[in-house]
Amino acid sequence: VPALSVQGLQKTYDNGVEALKGVSLEVAPGDFYALLGPNGAGKSTLIGIVSSLVNKTAGTVQVCGIDIDADRSAAMRQLGLVPQEINFNMFEKPIDICVNYAGFYGIPREVALTRAEAVLRDAQLWEKANVMSRTLSGGMKRRLMIARAMMTEPRLLILDEPTAGVDIEIRRGMWQTLKKINAEGTTIILTTHYLEEAEALCRNLAIIDHGRIVAEGSMKSMLARL
Ligand code: ADP
Ligand code: ADP
Repeated sequence: VPALSVQGLQKTYDNGVEALKGVSLEVAPGDFYALLGPNGAGKSTLIGIVSSLVNKTAGTVQVCGIDIDADRSAAMRQLGLVPQEINFNMFEKPIDICVNYAGFYGIPREVALTRAEAVLRDAQLWEKANVMSRTLSGGMKRRLMIARAMMTEPRLLILDEPTAGVDIEIRRGMWQTLKKINAEGTTIILTTHYLEEAEALCRNLAIIDHGRIVAEGSMKSMLARL
């Protein structure tokens, strides 16, 4: 069963903009997949629909085989989303941010504490688990966003332009965390407009432009064509 299957996806916004004009793609379980494209291509719209933040005009979306129209909440339980903006409470400690987030999803506290150690270690933040989050560096804050999303143990982790506007040092730290999470079995999809980022991380990619997939395949085959 694909981690994500999108068929014939269309989105026309209220103002008439056709952001997606019939997008189909499949992401295999365990894959690290990039959706690459310039600003305005439709990347955020696609991610928004998959994560149920944006309504689609037409098409189907299945997350781990679950159709979002058939059982939206079950589909969303398979999925973790890392928002672009850092939105945790700066006056809480990383450990509490992770444990409280899990609590919101009904995960028992003892389970959450064990998981928090694992996700914070993956993000190289375990030593910082008990400091005030506002004292973390920019890169640590970004990695904490990823760690928190992993508290629900999603089978599919989605990031929309995760490194937009951050410097190369911070990007490399985030890449390391994402590689670790993927190596442990979580499927990852990210959108980016940096070919370099897709190249550093991803096995497969689709290139999207003006609401259409213009190329899809393995990173290797794609680079061979450039
Ligand atoms: P990307 O993430 O690749 O930059 P977006 O999905 O954000 O692309 O945008 C695709 C197109 O849809 C663009 O033309 C954008 O201006 C338009 N768009 C995005 N969000 C909205 C919205 N809420 N209302 C109207 N048009 C939108
Ligand atoms: P991104 O950087 O992800 O491509 P933007 O920064 O362009 O997105 O847009 C930020 C927000 O504004 C998004 O929620 C998007 O849906 C919305 N938006 C983008 N373009 C338009 C548009 N043309 N009309 C209305 N809303 C838009």
